[in-house]
Amino acid sequence: MQYSRELTHHQLMDELNELQINHEELNISYIGESVFSKPIPLVTLGDRSAQKSVLYVSTHHANENVCTSVMLNFIKDYLEAYERYGQMYQINTRYLYKMRKIYIVLMLNPDGVEYRLNGIREDNPIKDRIINYNGSADFSKWSANGRGVDLNHNYNAYFEEYKEIEKELGITSGSAKYSGEYAESEPEVSALANFIRLHMDEIEGVMTFHTQGEEIYYKSREKSLPKAEYVSRLIAKITGYKQAESKGTGEYGGLTDWLIKEYGKPSFTIECGKGENPLPTSQITDIYLRLKEILFTFPILF
Ligand SMILES: [Zn+2]
Repeated sequence: MQYSRELTHHQLMDELNELQINHEELNISYIGESVFSKPIPLVTLGDRSAQKSVLYVSTHHANENVCTSVMLNFIKDYLEAYERYGQMYQINTRYLYKMRKIYIVLMLNPDGVEYRLNGIREDNPIKDRIINYNGSADFSKWSANGRGVDLNHNYNAYFEEYKEIEKELGITSGSAKYSGEYAESEPEVSALANFIRLHMDEIEGVMTFHTQGEEIYYKSREKSLPKAEYVSRLIAKITGYKQAESKGTGEYGGLTDWLIKEYGKPSFTIECGKGENPLPTSQITDIYLRLKEILFTFPILF
Protein backbone atom coordinates (compact mmCIF):
# COMPACT_ATOMS: atom_id res chain seq x y z
CA MET A 1 0.00 0.00 0.00
CA GLN A 2 1.16 3.50 -0.84
CA TYR A 3 0.38 6.65 1.10
CA SER A 4 -1.56 8.77 -1.33
CA ARG A 5 -3.61 11.13 0.83
CA GLU A 6 -2.77 14.10 3.01
CA LEU A 7 -2.44 13.49 6.73
CA THR A 8 -3.21 15.53 9.80
CA HIS A 9 -0.73 15.30 12.65
CA HIS A 10 -3.02 12.85 14.41
CA GLN A 11 -3.22 10.62 11.33
CA LEU A 12 0.54 10.83 10.86
CA MET A 13 1.10 9.63 14.43
CA ASP A 14 -1.34 6.74 13.81
CA GLU A 15 0.52 5.74 10.65
CA LEU A 16 3.90 5.90 12.39
CA ASN A 17 2.62 3.82 15.30
CA GLU A 18 1.24 1.28 12.85
CA LEU A 19 4.62 1.09 11.08
CA GLN A 20 6.34 0.73 14.45
CA ILE A 21 4.22 -2.31 15.31
CA ASN A 22 5.29 -4.06 12.10
CA HIS A 23 8.91 -2.89 11.92
CA GLU A 24 10.92 -3.09 15.10
CA GLU A 25 13.94 -1.36 13.56
CA LEU A 26 11.90 1.82 13.08
CA ASN A 27 13.05 4.41 15.59
CA ILE A 28 10.58 7.20 16.43
CA SER A 29 11.48 10.08 18.74
CA TYR A 30 10.56 13.77 19.04
CA ILE A 31 12.58 16.92 18.46
CA GLY A 32 10.18 19.14 20.38
CA GLU A 33 6.67 20.56 20.21
CA SER A 34 4.73 23.02 18.09
CA VAL A 35 3.17 26.26 19.39
CA PHE A 36 0.05 24.28 20.36
CA SER A 37 2.02 21.44 21.95
CA LYS A 38 1.90 18.87 19.19
CA PRO A 39 4.99 16.64 19.41
CA ILE A 40 7.12 16.86 16.26
CA PRO A 41 8.17 13.33 15.33
CA LEU A 42 11.63 12.38 14.14
CA VAL A 43 12.14 9.06 12.38
CA THR A 44 15.64 7.62 12.42
CA LEU A 45 16.53 4.94 9.88
CA GLY A 46 19.90 3.35 10.51
CA ASP A 47 22.09 1.84 13.16
CA ARG A 48 22.83 3.78 16.32
CA SER A 49 26.55 3.29 15.75
CA ALA A 50 26.59 4.69 12.19
CA GLN A 51 29.13 7.53 12.05
CA LYS A 52 27.56 9.63 9.34
CA SER A 53 24.03 10.85 8.88
CA VAL A 54 21.82 12.94 6.64
CA LEU A 55 18.68 14.89 7.47
CA TYR A 56 15.42 15.19 5.51
CA VAL A 57 12.91 17.83 6.56
CA SER A 58 9.39 18.17 5.24
CA THR A 59 6.42 20.52 5.63
CA HIS A 60 7.74 23.82 6.93
CA HIS A 61 4.73 25.22 5.08
CA ALA A 62 1.28 23.92 5.91
CA ASN A 63 0.09 24.03 2.31
CA GLU A 64 2.98 21.81 1.21
CA ASN A 65 1.96 18.85 3.30
CA VAL A 66 1.90 16.38 0.40
CA CYS A 67 5.63 16.03 1.14
CA THR A 68 4.81 14.41 4.50
CA SER A 69 3.14 11.52 2.67
CA VAL A 70 6.10 11.33 0.26
CA MET A 71 8.40 10.85 3.28
CA LEU A 72 6.12 8.13 4.67
CA ASN A 73 6.27 6.26 1.38
CA PHE A 74 10.05 6.36 1.53
CA ILE A 75 10.15 5.15 5.14
CA LYS A 76 7.87 2.22 4.34
CA ASP A 77 9.85 1.19 1.24
CA TYR A 78 13.11 1.49 3.16
CA LEU A 79 11.87 -0.74 5.99
CA GLU A 80 10.48 -3.36 3.63
CA ALA A 81 13.67 -3.46 1.56
CA TYR A 82 15.76 -3.75 4.73
CA GLU A 83 13.69 -6.64 5.99
CA ARG A 84 13.99 -8.65 2.80
CA TYR A 85 17.77 -7.93 2.63
CA GLY A 86 16.98 -6.05 -0.55
CA GLN A 87 18.94 -3.75 -2.83
CA MET A 88 17.74 -0.31 -3.78
CA TYR A 89 19.52 1.35 -6.72
CA GLN A 90 22.45 -1.04 -6.28
CA ILE A 91 22.70 -0.23 -2.60
CA ASN A 92 22.44 -3.07 -0.14
CA THR A 93 19.93 -1.74 2.38
CA ARG A 94 21.59 -3.70 5.20
CA TYR A 95 24.82 -1.84 4.39
CA LEU A 96 22.96 1.46 4.21
CA TYR A 97 21.35 0.80 7.60
CA LYS A 98 24.67 -0.05 9.21
CA MET A 99 26.71 2.81 7.72
CA ARG A 100 24.34 5.79 7.62
CA LYS A 101 21.60 7.26 9.74
CA ILE A 102 18.79 9.03 7.94
CA TYR A 103 16.96 11.48 10.19
CA ILE A 104 13.52 12.45 8.91
CA VAL A 105 11.31 15.26 10.23
CA LEU A 106 8.08 14.51 8.40
CA MET A 107 5.91 17.40 9.53
CA LEU A 108 7.65 20.40 11.05
CA ASN A 109 4.45 22.47 11.10
CA PRO A 110 1.64 20.33 12.58
CA ASP A 111 -0.47 23.27 13.82
CA GLY A 112 -0.54 24.90 10.38
CA VAL A 113 -1.53 21.58 8.80
CA GLU A 114 -4.32 21.27 11.36
CA TYR A 115 -5.69 24.71 10.39
CA ARG A 116 -5.62 23.77 6.75
CA LEU A 117 -7.26 20.38 6.97
CA ASN A 118 -9.65 20.82 9.91
CA GLY A 119 -10.08 24.59 10.21
CA ILE A 120 -9.49 26.50 13.42
CA ARG A 121 -10.90 25.20 16.69
CA GLU A 122 -13.37 27.20 18.75
CA ASP A 123 -11.17 26.90 21.82
CA ASN A 124 -8.04 28.22 20.08
CA PRO A 125 -6.93 31.13 22.33
CA ILE A 126 -5.83 33.24 19.34
CA LYS A 127 -8.65 32.23 17.01
CA ASP A 128 -9.81 35.76 16.13
CA ARG A 129 -6.29 36.99 15.47
CA ILE A 130 -5.52 34.04 13.21
CA ILE A 131 -8.75 34.39 11.24
CA ASN A 132 -7.90 38.05 10.87
CA TYR A 133 -4.40 37.22 9.57
CA ASN A 134 -5.88 34.71 7.18
CA GLY A 135 -8.56 37.07 5.94
CA SER A 136 -11.33 34.48 6.26
CA ALA A 137 -12.27 31.23 7.98
CA ASP A 138 -11.18 29.29 4.88
CA PHE A 139 -7.75 27.96 5.78
CA SER A 140 -7.25 25.77 2.71
CA LYS A 141 -4.20 27.78 1.59
CA TRP A 142 -2.69 28.51 5.02
CA SER A 143 1.10 28.21 5.01
CA ALA A 144 2.42 29.60 8.33
CA ASN A 145 2.60 28.00 11.77
CA GLY A 146 -0.03 28.11 14.52
CA ARG A 147 0.57 31.78 15.30
CA GLY A 148 1.18 33.10 11.82
CA VAL A 149 4.94 32.89 11.35
CA ASP A 150 6.49 31.55 8.14
CA LEU A 151 8.79 28.88 9.56
CA ASN A 152 11.18 29.00 6.63
CA HIS A 153 11.92 32.67 7.34
CA ASN A 154 12.59 32.17 11.04
CA TYR A 155 16.17 30.81 10.87
CA ASN A 156 19.14 32.97 11.71
CA ALA A 157 20.28 33.74 8.16
CA TYR A 158 20.24 37.41 7.10
CA PHE A 159 17.41 37.80 9.59
CA GLU A 160 17.98 41.46 10.46
CA GLU A 161 18.30 42.41 6.79
CA TYR A 162 15.01 40.70 6.15
CA LYS A 163 13.30 42.77 8.85
CA GLU A 164 14.10 45.85 6.75
CA ILE A 165 12.66 44.21 3.64
CA GLU A 166 9.53 43.22 5.53
CA LYS A 167 8.98 46.88 6.34
CA GLU A 168 9.47 47.91 2.72
CA LEU A 169 7.15 45.23 1.40
CA GLY A 170 4.56 45.72 4.12
CA ILE A 171 4.88 42.14 5.33
CA THR A 172 3.32 42.13 8.78
CA SER A 173 2.63 39.66 11.51
CA GLY A 174 0.54 36.80 10.23
CA SER A 175 1.20 37.21 6.52
CA ALA A 176 2.82 34.40 4.60
CA LYS A 177 6.53 35.26 4.60
CA TYR A 178 6.42 36.93 8.03
CA SER A 179 9.66 35.95 9.79
CA GLY A 180 8.68 36.26 13.46
CA GLU A 181 9.86 38.52 16.27
CA TYR A 182 13.39 37.21 16.30
CA ALA A 183 15.37 34.33 14.75
CA GLU A 184 14.30 30.96 16.18
CA SER A 185 11.38 32.59 18.01
CA GLU A 186 9.14 29.72 16.91
CA PRO A 187 9.29 26.47 18.88
CA GLU A 188 9.25 24.36 15.71
CA VAL A 189 12.33 26.13 14.28
CA SER A 190 14.07 26.29 17.63
CA ALA A 191 13.54 22.53 18.11
CA LEU A 192 14.97 21.70 14.69
CA ALA A 193 17.88 24.14 15.02
CA ASN A 194 18.77 22.65 18.41
CA PHE A 195 18.60 19.15 17.00
CA ILE A 196 20.90 20.16 14.14
CA ARG A 197 23.40 21.87 16.46
CA LEU A 198 23.50 18.78 18.64
CA HIS A 199 24.17 16.50 15.65
CA MET A 200 26.26 18.91 13.58
CA ASP A 201 29.36 16.71 13.64
CA GLU A 202 27.61 13.73 12.07
CA ILE A 203 25.12 15.41 9.71
CA GLU A 204 26.80 15.52 6.30
CA GLY A 205 23.98 16.78 4.12
CA VAL A 206 20.41 18.06 4.36
CA MET A 207 17.47 17.99 2.00
CA THR A 208 14.39 20.01 2.80
CA PHE A 209 11.20 19.37 0.86
CA HIS A 210 8.76 22.02 -0.29
CA THR A 211 6.29 22.46 -3.17
CA GLN A 212 6.14 23.67 -5.92
CA GLY A 213 8.26 24.32 -9.01
CA GLU A 214 10.44 21.23 -9.68
CA GLU A 215 13.56 23.13 -8.69
CA ILE A 216 16.61 22.60 -6.49
CA TYR A 217 18.11 25.44 -4.45
CA TYR A 218 21.63 24.79 -3.23
CA LYS A 219 23.33 28.19 -2.86
CA SER A 220 23.04 30.88 -0.27
CA ARG A 221 23.50 34.08 -2.23
CA GLU A 222 26.88 33.86 -3.91
CA LYS A 223 28.06 31.20 -1.49
CA SER A 224 28.18 27.82 -3.13
CA LEU A 225 29.99 24.80 -1.74
CA PRO A 226 31.88 22.62 -4.27
CA LYS A 227 30.26 19.50 -2.87
CA ALA A 228 26.82 21.08 -3.15
CA GLU A 229 27.42 21.96 -6.80
CA TYR A 230 28.17 18.34 -7.55
CA VAL A 231 25.33 16.89 -5.49
CA SER A 232 22.76 19.35 -6.85
CA ARG A 233 23.72 18.34 -10.39
CA LEU A 234 23.16 14.74 -9.41
CA ILE A 235 19.78 15.50 -7.81
CA ALA A 236 18.82 17.33 -10.99
CA LYS A 237 19.87 14.40 -13.14
CA ILE A 238 17.95 11.86 -11.05
CA THR A 239 14.76 13.85 -10.47
CA GLY A 240 14.59 15.89 -13.67
CA TYR A 241 14.20 19.01 -11.51
CA LYS A 242 16.22 22.13 -12.38
CA GLN A 243 19.06 23.71 -10.41
CA ALA A 244 17.99 27.21 -9.36
CA GLU A 245 19.16 30.27 -7.43
CA SER A 246 17.17 32.05 -4.75
CA LYS A 247 15.83 35.47 -5.50
CA GLY A 248 13.84 38.09 -3.61
CA THR A 249 12.42 37.06 -0.25
CA GLY A 250 13.69 33.52 -0.83
CA GLU A 251 17.19 34.65 0.17
CA TYR A 252 16.38 35.27 3.81
CA GLY A 253 15.79 33.22 6.91
CA GLY A 254 15.48 29.76 5.36
CA LEU A 255 16.89 26.49 6.68
CA THR A 256 19.09 25.95 3.63
CA ASP A 257 20.56 29.46 3.86
CA TRP A 258 21.25 29.06 7.55
CA LEU A 259 23.03 25.71 7.08
CA ILE A 260 25.18 26.95 4.21
CA LYS A 261 25.98 30.35 5.68
CA GLU A 262 26.58 29.36 9.30
CA TYR A 263 27.93 25.84 8.98
CA GLY A 264 29.04 25.29 5.40
CA LYS A 265 26.82 22.19 5.20
CA PRO A 266 25.68 20.98 1.79
CA SER A 267 21.96 21.70 1.94
CA PHE A 268 19.27 21.55 -0.68
CA THR A 269 15.77 22.95 -0.89
CA ILE A 270 13.78 20.71 -3.19
CA GLU A 271 10.64 22.30 -4.63
CA CYS A 272 8.54 19.31 -5.64
CA GLY A 273 5.65 19.08 -8.05
CA LYS A 274 3.89 21.51 -10.34
CA GLY A 275 0.83 23.69 -10.06
CA GLU A 276 -0.36 25.88 -7.25
CA ASN A 277 -0.12 25.14 -3.52
CA PRO A 278 -1.64 23.16 -2.02
CA LEU A 279 -0.84 20.62 -4.71
CA PRO A 280 -3.50 17.94 -5.28
CA THR A 281 -2.91 14.68 -3.47
CA SER A 282 -2.91 12.98 -6.88
CA GLN A 283 0.70 14.25 -7.21
CA ILE A 284 1.97 12.41 -4.11
CA THR A 285 2.84 9.19 -5.94
CA ASP A 286 4.43 11.00 -8.90
CA ILE A 287 6.54 13.15 -6.60
CA TYR A 288 7.64 10.12 -4.60
CA LEU A 289 8.64 8.23 -7.73
CA ARG A 290 10.68 11.23 -8.92
CA LEU A 291 12.46 11.48 -5.55
CA LYS A 292 12.74 7.82 -4.60
CA GLU A 293 16.21 7.19 -6.05
CA ILE A 294 17.76 10.30 -4.50
CA LEU A 295 16.14 9.55 -1.13
CA PHE A 296 17.92 6.18 -1.10
CA THR A 297 21.24 7.36 -2.60
CA PHE A 298 21.73 10.78 -0.98
CA PRO A 299 23.19 9.30 2.26
CA ILE A 300 26.06 7.56 0.46
CA LEU A 301 27.09 10.68 -1.46
CA PHE A 302 28.79 11.84 1.73
ZN1 LIG B 1 7.71 25.96 1.16
